[in-house]
Amino acid sequence: MVRTIGLSKRQQAILDIVRTEGPITGEQIAERLNLSRAALRSDYTVLVMSGMVEARPRVGYYYTGKTVLNAISEKVRNLKVRDVQSVPVVVTENTSVYDTIVTMFLEDVGTLMVVQPGGILAGVVSRKDLLKVTMGNTDLHKMPVKVIMTRMPNVISTYADESVWLAAKRIIDHEIDGLPVVREKDCTDSKEEFKTYEVIGRLTKTNITRLFVELGES
Ligand code: ADP
Repeated sequence: MVRTIGLSKRQQAILDIVRTEGPITGEQIAERLNLSRAALRSDYTVLVMSGMVEARPRVGYYYTGKTVLNAISEKVRNLKVRDVQSVPVVVTENTSVYDTIVTMFLEDVGTLMVVQPGGILAGVVSRKDLLKVTMGNTDLHKMPVKVIMTRMPNVISTYADESVWLAAKRIIDHEIDGLPVVREKDCTDSKEEFKTYEVIGRLTKTNITRLFVELGES
């Protein structure tokens, strides 16, 4: 018998019965263990929630073949950016560097998104971008943020229906603190048709840390 981390002795015994004899009804499992079905109800719930066991009406419980780790990683991969994203905090391209710093303090965020009219993503500006410019002799009231931002098409973004896991991987790979959540918007000017990206949210390391804590608690 392979002991599965996180399961009680009784849950382990149920898992072993389901693995070797499933599909099997809750009543039959209870008989094998000389207990009432009601006494085992919470154990069944734990096993089904873990993803290791599934319950089918009129068939009973059967073993899915998943380990606890498989089930957790599947759950993590299925979570979408929309489930954890925050509201976007933006400034417009011509906002002064000074006002951008003030906004960063007032909104208590580490990265601001810079937008064109209509909420179209133009760039992002981080704490270090702002610190760097304050070290020179620049007039912070006169310089617009668009001069110092990381601009499109170099901004790494995500979509609301993308998996949080993939977005988090991108944050790690690019060594940044967060990503704008965008939605594509087709635009046309007098000459051509082109794609723009409307900012609808932001996904930061804080969102992912909070999710990690919630997963640990559940
Ligand atoms: P900090 O400056 O506080 O360390 P980051 O590590 O997020 O914050 O930013 C590092 C650099 O990467 C900055 O120049 C910033 O403009 C840029 N940056 C931040 N977020 C993004 C993003 N989503 N896409 C592209 N560049 C980004």
